[in-house]
Amino acid sequence: MSASIDYNKYEAVIGLEVHAQLQTESKLFSSDSAAFGGLPNTHISPVTLGHPGTLPFLNGKAVELAIRLGFACHCEIEKENFFARKNYFYPDLPKGYQISQHTAPICIGGYVPIFIDGKARNVQLNRIHLEEDAGKSMHDQDPENTMVDYNRAGVPLVEIVTEPDIHNADEAYAYLTELRRLVRWLEVCDGNMEEGSMRCDANISIRPKGATTLGTKVEVKNMNSIRNVKRAIENEIKRQVELTEQGGHIVQETRSFDASNGSSFPLRSKEEANDYRYFPEPDLAPFHLTDDFLAGIKAALPELPEEKVTRYTGQLGLREYDARVIADDKPTAEYFEALSAATPHLQAAANWMLGPVKSWLNENGADISAFPVKPAALADLIAIIADGKVNFSIASSRILPAMIAEPGKTPLAIATALNLIQDTDEGSILPVIDEVLAKYPAKVAEFRSGKKGLIGLFVGEVMKLSGGKADPKLTNELLMKRLNA
Ligand code: ADP
Ligand code: MG
Repeated sequence: MSASIDYNKYEAVIGLEVHAQLQTESKLFSSDSAAFGGLPNTHISPVTLGHPGTLPFLNGKAVELAIRLGFACHCEIEKENFFARKNYFYPDLPKGYQISQHTAPICIGGYVPIFIDGKARNVQLNRIHLEEDAGKSMHDQDPENTMVDYNRAGVPLVEIVTEPDIHNADEAYAYLTELRRLVRWLEVCDGNMEEGSMRCDANISIRPKGATTLGTKVEVKNMNSIRNVKRAIENEIKRQVELTEQGGHIVQETRSFDASNGSSFPLRSKEEANDYRYFPEPDLAPFHLTDDFLAGIKAALPELPEEKVTRYTGQLGLREYDARVIADDKPTAEYFEALSAATPHLQAAANWMLGPVKSWLNENGADISAFPVKPAALADLIAIIADGKVNFSIASSRILPAMIAEPGKTPLAIATALNLIQDTDEGSILPVIDEVLAKYPAKVAEFRSGKKGLIGLFVGEVMKLSGGKADPKLTNELLMKRLNA
């Protein structure tokens, strides 16, 4: 940043275009495999290669997935659809044109909720449309030649386009994180930005704060992670402000992000932009979506993350923060729902998920699906705490690790075998208390002269001496009685 420039004079305006590969078996217009990878040029056929005389036919599953995402994003669904040809020449485009819905999207408007600095807001969408992917030019396989792999050519994509409704890099980050969670949640796309199954182009402009017209936009491409999109946006806003402040003006162009140094370089300017000569695809009939077909897709939608948060905080009474962490990914939410069906202690269930369970997953770099303790067994553990048989500290530090080591054993059997059942017998706790009080006569005097906070020290010592087995509540009561006597 340059010290003499007031970056706060400007507001950034950002619109994102995300391409997401749909999780179908076959391509958008042929039965060729749509799987990622494979030896180069093995997922191809005359249809993919656009040989004369071949005809495309539409993959219904791709249409269904696009609508699924559209419903989840609150879009209006277009019932009368057709495809267009977008004509341009490029080596990775075997037909010389891309078949796209660009001119008439299947999903219109809609929004994606984001949650940032404790505030919820919706990022408005312009549209979601269907199109086919291009192949891949490979510049690093041969010292002299560019190689081309057509496996990706024809793989179904949705392009999700926002309105210019994003105003800083953090919002873009939150939007992409939420969109990736949504496509994964819906099983529409695997959301893998490193492998390129989800790709983002960022359109960025600046304007003086308070202005209502849009500035000239620059499109930045080639960011292979959400973090890099954020870096690219930060860099581009800074570049535009500095250029403007130095008296220069922004030209409409496409730039490529260089992750190695966080900057970008121009790829092409507007003057070099293609005229795509769009026209309706003559080899594909327009298609009409019936109300029944749409209603079927809507009915099959899973409960969405935001709906779960609303239900967890409302019906289940969880704290909002806890609800958001649990609903963050589907397997975690499903684990919690199985757990909460098996125990009446819902907040305790949430505390276990956010506390000991999450710690174990973090320490082991594991996903909830790899957690050895099943929801019913964890519910049993919560039950024996509620019954006063063990306390939480013993349960999380001793019993849970034993359950992880031997998932077949019940928590009660483990607690009994390890001699961890809580001591709720006054007769055996009182001698321990007397031992502790005898050990700290000065502290006892301080307590009696008003330093009531020392109770924690005494409870802690009793717990230690009893091997964690003394019932903390009873210990507290008995200590108070002795100290106030
Ligand atoms: P193009 O035809 O160049 O692709 P579109 O109008 O389709 O442009 O918009 C592409 C993306 O750019 C959208 O996400 C849109 O919101 C965004 N956008 C359009 N104009 C601006 C602008 N002046 N500043 C920032 N983003 C913009
Ligand atoms: Mg565009």
